[in-house]
Formats: sequence, C-alpha cells, structure tokens
Amino acid sequence: MKNMKAICPECKNDIDLSRYPNLKISNVIECNVCGITLAVKKIQLDGNVETEIVDEGK
Ligand SMILES: [Zn+2]
Repeated sequence: MKNMKAICPECKNDIDLSRYPNLKISNVIECNVCGITLAVKKIQLDGNVETEIVDEGK
C-alpha cells in the first residue's frame, strides 16, 4: 500500500500512520494529536483512510 493518509475527524490533524504499517479495514488506530480512538472504515485507492470515532462507552 502506498502513502496512506488519515485526517482525524475530531481535531482535523493528519494522523501519523507510520505506527500502523499494515493498516486494514476495521483496525483501530489512535490520533497522535488528540488521542481519540478511531476505527478504519475505508481505505481509498489514493491512500486516503476514512475513519470513524470509536465510542468507547466506558
Ligand atoms: Zn485528533
């Protein structure tokens, strides 16, 4: 997979995906800026990663 890129839906910053070399749909990642937990919803052909906020509900 080439350069993947994800924008945090919460703080709108680029998320550092270098920690997730084998990112797949439904993987859970964490925004390195605001710390929110996100699930990978879709990886587009151009490398843009769509995420949704995980409701931790704890
Ligand atoms: Zn964030």
